[in-house]
Amino acid sequence: MFDAIVVKKNAEGQTHAAVEQLSLDDLPAGDVTVAVEYSTLNYKDGLCLGPGGGLVRNYPHVPGIDFAGTVESSEHECYKPGDRVVLTGWRVGEAHWGGYAQKARVKAEWLVPLPDGLDTRHAMAIGTAGFTAMLAVMALEDHGIKDGPVLVTGASGGVGSVATAILSHLGHDVAAVTGRPDSADYLRGLGATEIIDRAELAETIKRSLEGERWGGCIDAVGGDMLARVLGQMQYGASVAAVGLAGGAGLPATVIPFLLRGVNLLGIDSVMQPYENRLRAWQRIAKDLPLEKLDAMIQPATLSDLPQLGADILKGQVRGRVVVDVNA
Ligand code: NDP
Repeated sequence: MFDAIVVKKNAEGQTHAAVEQLSLDDLPAGDVTVAVEYSTLNYKDGLCLGPGGGLVRNYPHVPGIDFAGTVESSEHECYKPGDRVVLTGWRVGEAHWGGYAQKARVKAEWLVPLPDGLDTRHAMAIGTAGFTAMLAVMALEDHGIKDGPVLVTGASGGVGSVATAILSHLGHDVAAVTGRPDSADYLRGLGATEIIDRAELAETIKRSLEGERWGGCIDAVGGDMLARVLGQMQYGASVAAVGLAGGAGLPATVIPFLLRGVNLLGIDSVMQPYENRLRAWQRIAKDLPLEKLDAMIQPATLSDLPQLGADILKGQVRGRVVVDVNA
């Protein structure tokens, strides 16, 4: 038997998440069984743990959209017992049972071998948020990062923290937008060169174009802030749009695209092909200093997750919540 967070739905449609004991026979079909060591808390997990079940597609359900651990048994030629693996995406933790358990069974093609130099705890300090941040950096690089500072919105959150650390390590000036003044020292520690108060960029746009400020942007917030930032990009610069923590609407005009050649790049971490995932994880192992990752980690156990899930939806979690599922 092993511990897992199980989300159940009652006859009235209300959902409830609690730690329960499961057996290997309860696990869904898959060709690799993993002894999970660490998982994390992402915004999507907050939705799945909260009332209504968020993105959960079947009940009972084990959430947790990412995990890292050791292969326990495998029916697939690419993996053998003892291999260290990491998983993000593929609707795991939404449509297929995920990482909030001491065991998980998944399709081999969803896994990536852990790159050299990365242990399972640091892999989950990165997790889906950090993997997405790396995809966003790679997308900006593919389109060319201009000379000015690179803006990171939602900077003290999971995606924003890792994006700040990677961009700084790569030698870019990073302007970090945060709604929390008490995060300034934390963000400077990750390498931010400038801290911008969220209120400065939160106002609805009045002019489609403002002064050219940013050589690139990784945006985790969306809504009014993304619309505003589009009009502040340097000529030909790119915005990698990652999330919608501040809203799904986009009250923008086409002017920044027409008159400044701004690129808006959508980033999806869920359905990335194996080669892209491998390339991103290898870049992460190379371009993200472990001491910066350590500064982002907020440790947690399975039983902490229902409360932390509510906190992340309120924008109250800083950095990366790393869940030791065996603690
Ligand atoms: P977090 O909750 O950790 O971070 C979001 C940050 O955004 C907060 O910490 C806060 O930062 C800021 N924020 C929160 N609410 C608001 C608001 N109302 N207005 C402006 N800023 C706000 O989440 P993650 O970093 O894990 O994820 C960020 C977004 O990216 C989410 O929407 C998530 O769903 C999405 N995402 C998308 C992925 C993809 O594949 N495209 C993968 C992973 C995440 P601060 O206090 O510093 O301002």
